[in-house]
Amino acid sequence: MRPPSRSVVAVLQIVGTELLVILIGVCFATLLAVIVAALWLHGDAQSRGMDATVWIVLLILASFFGGFIGFAIVVVVYLVVRGNHPVGGAMPYGYVPYPVAPQAACPVCGGPMTWYPEYQRWYCPSCGQYR
Ligand SMILES: [Zn+2]
Repeated sequence: MRPPSRSVVAVLQIVGTELLVILIGVCFATLLAVIVAALWLHGDAQSRGMDATVWIVLLILASFFGGFIGFAIVVVVYLVVRGNHPVGGAMPYGYVPYPVAPQAACPVCGGPMTWYPEYQRWYCPSCGQYR
């Protein structure tokens, strides 16, 4: 290992300073994003009847330990979870938990069949069989 020359040290010092500035900038940007997101999340979660405090604590903790990646993960998870918590706490118009199947008649006996979403199949109670 030969010692680094003066010019290399000088470059490292310049790059180091710039990296520090960038890092501080990223930290401030993340902090700002966390504050903005926390404010938005608070209002959004409350309008959906969700526990806003839990999400804000989660957001701050994730941002603290995971940086911007942790922050992004919590925001994405929140966006996914909030899909099940529509505004007003009620199902939005046209929202259905399962694709609603229309009434269907049994091809054998002609009787009405029941749709079982968990099996993705029709069941004919008259025949006692899946169709
Ligand atoms: Zn039938």
